[in-house]
Amino acid sequence: MTLVTNRTLLDVAAGAGFGVGAFNVADLTMAQAVLDAARATESPVIVETLAGSHPHGSDPVFWAALLRLIEGYPEVPVALHLDHGPTFETCVRAIEAGFTSVMIDGSLDSSGHPASFADNVAVTRRVVSYAHERGVSVEGELGTIGGSKDGTARAEIVLADPDEALAFVAATGVDALAVAVGTSHGAYKFSAPPDGPMLRLDLVASIAALVPDTHLVLHGSSSLPAGLRSRVNGSGGAVPSSWGVADEEKVRAIELGVRKINQGMDHYLAYTAGVREALAADPASVDPAGYLAAGRESAQRLLEERMVLFGQAGRALLYR
Ligand SMILES: [Zn+2]
Repeated sequence: MTLVTNRTLLDVAAGAGFGVGAFNVADLTMAQAVLDAARATESPVIVETLAGSHPHGSDPVFWAALLRLIEGYPEVPVALHLDHGPTFETCVRAIEAGFTSVMIDGSLDSSGHPASFADNVAVTRRVVSYAHERGVSVEGELGTIGGSKDGTARAEIVLADPDEALAFVAATGVDALAVAVGTSHGAYKFSAPPDGPMLRLDLVASIAALVPDTHLVLHGSSSLPAGLRSRVNGSGGAVPSSWGVADEEKVRAIELGVRKINQGMDHYLAYTAGVREALAADPASVDPAGYLAAGRESAQRLLEERMVLFGQAGRALLYR
């Protein structure tokens, strides 16, 4: 059995004190990069995807293919997670499709403004009740993480409050909680190099102490390595300079109690770098087989590094 819930995956990680990378995938080759990296490093892993955010045109088509792909990796403990489920109905669709974990993002209202605590609790509780009856884990979000999930709007940042976190967990029963501790979504996080720590690690520590049975999640914590940006821009891209979260800060956050570390943009950058380099090296190529494979291989290299950094490498055996 290769599919596990986030609750199981992260309970083991908490017991042994390591973090688990959750890597966003937009198509099957990206998912294969995650699973190949996990197999190569003997890591448990979380494959996550946003509803509608893929080129396959249909969530049921893509999601069924993802589950079929995961079946080919019986030695890898995998949770298939819906990232930022916008509504109860979207979470239900993912659960019916076979996801083992869903995130209900009740932190913003339908117009993109911070939702009230009561509204966030209400929708999250509804998803938890439905999901737990079916053996599926749930992640909620408290505070609003800045930046943009889809590149269009930039939400304001409202940091998570430890007392609210305790009340939120008690009222909803979530398995995992995304906490806004200074990170930002997207490929354009911070326009100047940081002059100090980016993460409010004191908040991580306070919240972890208050909700020891709930797994804390870092969103918007890609590092945006300058080397990846140079590779993209050196082969025709034009990604502006931007600074993400330093590797050391993520390691420190794991030590303080963070269990799930979302890495969307770094995976996208590494994949895009491989595709662009392959196209630039052979401008006459029109065969996607070659350049998409180059993207997959480029991504896999970065993902393996992250799995070692977070401490999940070599831990697959803990799930047998
Ligand atoms: Zn997020």
